[in-house]
Amino acid sequence: MVTLTPTLGLGWLFYTQTKKLLLGKAAFELHSIIDQAHRETALWLKESVYSLKVFSNSYVLSENLERVINTKQSGNSLSAEISPAPLKTITEYLALVQSQFHEYQRLLVLDSKGAVKVQYPESKADFSLPVDWKEQLEKNKMIIGETNSSDLSIEATFLLAVPVLSNGQSFLGILAAEMTINELNSVIKSITISRSAHISLQRKNGSLLSSSRQAQKSDTTPASATLDPERMNNRSNELSIYKNANGSKVVGLSSPLPLLPWNIAMEKDYQQAFREVLELKNITLAILAILLSVVAVAAFLLSHSILSPLKQLINGAPRVADGDLDVQLEVRRHDEIGFTMSIFNDMVIRLRKNHEKLEKLSAVDALTGLFNRKRLMEMFALHIKRYARHQTPFSVLMVDLDHFKEINDRYGHLAGDAVLVSIGELLREMLRSIDTAGRYGGEEFLIILDDIREQEALHTAERIRMAVENNEVIADGKTIRVSISIGVATISNIFDMEKGRLINRADKALYEAKRNGRNCVVLSRSMGTDQLQT
Ligand code: GH3
Ligand code: MG
Ligand code: MG
Repeated sequence: MVTLTPTLGLGWLFYTQTKKLLLGKAAFELHSIIDQAHRETALWLKESVYSLKVFSNSYVLSENLERVINTKQSGNSLSAEISPAPLKTITEYLALVQSQFHEYQRLLVLDSKGAVKVQYPESKADFSLPVDWKEQLEKNKMIIGETNSSDLSIEATFLLAVPVLSNGQSFLGILAAEMTINELNSVIKSITISRSAHISLQRKNGSLLSSSRQAQKSDTTPASATLDPERMNNRSNELSIYKNANGSKVVGLSSPLPLLPWNIAMEKDYQQAFREVLELKNITLAILAILLSVVAVAAFLLSHSILSPLKQLINGAPRVADGDLDVQLEVRRHDEIGFTMSIFNDMVIRLRKNHEKLEKLSAVDALTGLFNRKRLMEMFALHIKRYARHQTPFSVLMVDLDHFKEINDRYGHLAGDAVLVSIGELLREMLRSIDTAGRYGGEEFLIILDDIREQEALHTAERIRMAVENNEVIADGKTIRVSISIGVATISNIFDMEKGRLINRADKALYEAKRNGRNCVVLSRSMGTDQLQT
């Protein structure tokens, strides 16, 4: 959006400004051509009126017309018929003029009331002067009007008339000419216009009289180039953009010709007039399209590069929350996200270490450093399971300090603790790594001897008993000696797998050892108990 909005905005601004400029340029061009057309037409009209005036001033016309009128006025209709000479002379005169000047399609002589007296060539076509002919004559000393031919197939003409005056400058009648527009056409066509522009002459109703387009082969039917009359009349002098009858988009301008009953229209090809701005539009659109795709690709890559590590984080976090502390994210970036991922990995490693520490703590007896009872029982359960599967034998030694209450009483509780600690150390030293030793209760220890049967167990118990007997603990400057009693039990059949049974057997053997006077080892036989005393 940040890239596209200004590009689009600037492009649009540039486009509209340039279009405005070009529209102005086109308007200027069309207006100046129309102005020129106006001037040329006015000039041509003036010349045409002048020529017609020259013919109307001829004595042949004025004298004979005067004669015709006078004959009529005398009321002797017969004499008029007897003397057709003046009319004939006028007709001959008109024929002469018409043969010399081809722009006159028909020449007519009318009386002062506007009634046709003579016409050449003879035509059945109606003739009438414009309604306002008297005012025109008074004002301009000439009459200009439309010919009433509605037949578009015959060549377009217009009416031009001048007064015929007598010697004494009195108004005798009118010399009227139906003028072809050939000359007007060539006048208009002589105006130099750019290749993309077309000039055309139209009736007020919009039908086409002539067009510079007619020269083009493609325009076989000039009538098809007819412009919308409403547009041409209502919006005259105003530039408008529309589709012409040929179906091509154009910029057009129409203006009524001076005096003549026609409009002159200019059209300029839209594509040509706005070539630059259209090119600009295309370039802007192309740039936009390129920008859009570049931005889209960049946005995709950017979001992908952010989202994929985020996805790793999103997937990793719940796994860690569920207790999976082996999660490690793949860090490929060296930015903030990469840093976050490294921190995450580091956090997981620390969590794992703390977890291990906690696990250890939860398994170890704080005073002696041996396994606590909970862990001891887990290990015991494991040994039972192993025995069930592989019949791997093992033995348990239940160890209890003799008269420990007295030790506490005599040396103090702290000294008692020191004794317990020293026993823990001793056991750790003496046992193999595969054996398990833990604090079962206050001053009771349980030892699990892995893969050891009765006799070997007895020996180990005896070694431990002797070691404790010979061990001296110095506390508060006093030397303390203690002894232990041990009950030994070896797993020997499936009954021993029952919950707590083997430990019970060892316990019982321990009690027996106590009963037997303490500081001794008693083996629990699976079928009863044996005693081994030292
Ligand atoms: P016996 O030979 O029959 O085992 O006699 P005993 O005194 O050892 O047995 P008893 O069960 O009567 O006493 C056990 C004593 O162990 C009681 C208690 O004060 C002491 N004891 C238990 N745990 C600790 C400990 O963590 N520290 C110390 N200092 N003493 C403890
Ligand atoms: Mg005890
Ligand atoms: Mg005891």
